[in-house]
Amino acid sequence: MGINYKSYRPTDVIDILTKINHQPKKKLGQNFLIDSNILNLIIKNSMIKKNDNILEIGPGLGALTERILEKTENLVCIEKDHKIINYLNTNFKNLNIIENDALKVRYPKLFNENDFKVIANLPYSIASRLVVNLAESKNKPSFMCLTIQKEVADKLISKPKDKSYGVLSILSNVFYKTTLLKKISPSCFFPAPKVWSAIIKMDKRVVPLVNENLYTDFKYIVKYCFSQKRKQLGTSLKKLGFSNPKKTFSNLDFFIEARPNELEIKDWVDITKYFQDKDF
Ligand code: SAH
Repeated sequence: MGINYKSYRPTDVIDILTKINHQPKKKLGQNFLIDSNILNLIIKNSMIKKNDNILEIGPGLGALTERILEKTENLVCIEKDHKIINYLNTNFKNLNIIENDALKVRYPKLFNENDFKVIANLPYSIASRLVVNLAESKNKPSFMCLTIQKEVADKLISKPKDKSYGVLSILSNVFYKTTLLKKISPSCFFPAPKVWSAIIKMDKRVVPLVNENLYTDFKYIVKYCFSQKRKQLGTSLKKLGFSNPKKTFSNLDFFIEARPNELEIKDWVDITKYFQDKDF
């Protein structure tokens, strides 16, 4: 189509880094995307409309940023690395960059409480926390397309009884339906990370699977039971205050002999309701 993207082959990235005298920081997860097929896939699946508000977390050298800007001008970026921000400011006119830690930003404020999507190749060390923060935020993104560590993607898409099923799977699933789009090899990045990655998309549920007034206790119970995930549920429930869980939950579908990773979200909701009613 004759579009001249700034090149993001390994040699180009090395050139840029040399020019700005920047050594990629491991601590900040600086693994830059250098595969245009992957960039295309992210953009295609994000279905960005002209007036969409987009939040990009960790724009880095801007490989994804320039493609987002082709679709909409309503882009806000959050980047922590000052040198990278200087580079972005000289290469993109009027780019709206917030210099901060993405874990500390108040998301609803960014677009005046309006709808927004998140598109990001995330720094892997904060990916899980960030997904939960965004999912629990008051004005949560309507959609997210994220590049994350494969291992975290497995947690987000797993189902009860799967090996990766845990607290992250449950909390994210309350608010989002997550789909794996593609596994990606370390060679799609420079420098290449040690682990495989994955692109996922997360569509916000119209109605969350847990009521707002139950959510805090729901999360407390889930986290507590998974902190002793090899114990039978009955044992953990007793510690939470249920004097006779076998009797209390005799009408429900799950068994108190089960381990926490066997329960469905609706089972945790049932437990939470009893917990709130103090129906021990
Ligand atoms: N999106 C770019 C860069 C990905 S590397 C690409 O795909 O090529 C991850 C980026 O996140 C880096 O630019 C890094 O500086 C930034 N980053 C790391 N930790 C961050 C944090 N806590 N908050 C905001 N940005 C962060």
